[in-house]
Amino acid sequence: MKYINEMFHFSHPQHKLKYHYSEVPFKCDGCKEVGIGSRYKCSGNSGGGGACDFDLHVHCALIPSPPTLLHPFYTKCSFQFLPRPPGTIPRYCNACERDVAGFVYHCRSCGFDLHPCCAKLPMVLQDGHVKLYLCRKVGTSCHRCGRKGGSWSYRSACKKYNFHVACVKEMLVENWHDIYFGHHGIAGGGGGSRMVDSRIIPSLNGGIQSYHNQKKSKGKVKKGCEMAGLALQFVVSAVLGDPTTLIAGVVGSLISK
Ligand SMILES: [Zn+2]
Ligand SMILES: [Zn+2]
Ligand SMILES: [Zn+2]
Ligand SMILES: [Zn+2]
Ligand SMILES: [Zn+2]
Repeated sequence: MKYINEMFHFSHPQHKLKYHYSEVPFKCDGCKEVGIGSRYKCSGNSGGGGACDFDLHVHCALIPSPPTLLHPFYTKCSFQFLPRPPGTIPRYCNACERDVAGFVYHCRSCGFDLHPCCAKLPMVLQDGHVKLYLCRKVGTSCHRCGRKGGSWSYRSACKKYNFHVACVKEMLVENWHDIYFGHHGIAGGGGGSRMVDSRIIPSLNGGIQSYHNQKKSKGKVKKGCEMAGLALQFVVSAVLGDPTTLIAGVVGSLISK
């Protein structure tokens, strides 16, 4: 994907934001969700001001003009970009079921809300081996939680592998959030990427493990596990706002061990 290199954004008008790619997770100052890979980062200015700790998802930085969005799952809706959720009642995202605390696409007539990254989740994630389709609701149970229905899911073409967007976020994002933002681990900047590698293992194993427990047959477990892992790596990077990020490769190589 090709992105513009730098911009001014209304949410941080004092400094230029520059495109930046890193596998170190960040907290988006627009939607308040975690991201990885591509981002727009404060670069400070030449007048002596240093860079702030300010990052935006690409989808939070590149708001369409006019700021409206149509989504194939909600054909009657017209979503309006808002810098903060409307009203005082806590709101949640219809795609991932997490709180909406910042930037949001909101439909005034039915009250639906979508995080910018959720609104832009690709309808199909594809690689040589795996093709996953975004579904609003599926009748297959999720590999993570075992539930049917619920939030949006990615489902494999064969319909055997299914992951709630919500479950993938819960599984990874909250762990990362604690690790990075709870302990200021991100302060060191780019050097943190090794840490991602070691920390991602337990959380992903947890996800795959629950899938193991559902399947009793031994021969199928291995194959299912590999496939689920492969499927999961795509979902992870897409859910974190950048389907092109190399985290997919990192995750994949860890799972295959
Ligand atoms: Zn964001
Ligand atoms: Zn700044
Ligand atoms: Zn609507
Ligand atoms: Zn969401
Ligand atoms: Zn689930």
